[in-house]
Amino acid sequence: MALSPIQPRPCTDPDCRGQHAPDERVALAGSLCNARGAQLTKLRRQILELLWESGRPTGAYELVEALKLKTSRPVAPPTVYRTLEFLMSQSLVSKIESRNAYVPCVHPERQNDCLFFICSDCGTSVELEDPRIERLISENAAIIGYRPTRRVVEVEGVCRSCRAAGAAGK
Ligand SMILES: [Zn+2]
Ligand SMILES: [Zn+2]
Ligand SMILES: [Zn+2]
Repeated sequence: MALSPIQPRPCTDPDCRGQHAPDERVALAGSLCNARGAQLTKLRRQILELLWESGRPTGAYELVEALKLKTSRPVAPPTVYRTLEFLMSQSLVSKIESRNAYVPCVHPERQNDCLFFICSDCGTSVELEDPRIERLISENAAIIGYRPTRRVVEVEGVCRSCRAAGAAGK
């Protein structure tokens, strides 16, 4: 009997809008870590799962609370921060600086920059990738002799469903 019934399926769709099953993405994270000689330990996996389940940028202290419910074993905030640092070092998670919160990266199997559209009404975020923006940042960085180390683009605004709800309420 197979230990893990969910097989990772690396995404091959260049126009993907990120519609992936969370289970599959967590399984993929495990196999990426293996291939890189890193380990997706139980706690790392649990935090990644919580971020996928949350569906919106989630703060470290929210994760501490969610872990308490999920595992009935309290995990100290520094441990959660260390785990998030690991997940970010593996490009499995991105930090949304404007929210001081974390989201899972939809396509960790690709070396892409993350472009996040964050809704200021409901707090959800949608991640897209666009090679044109990556190229633009690289070109502009080269012009000013700058070497970017972390490239996450955050856009604030109102999502489709909140806009629809707003229009219906008028
Ligand atoms: Zn995809
Ligand atoms: Zn990403
Ligand atoms: Zn919204």
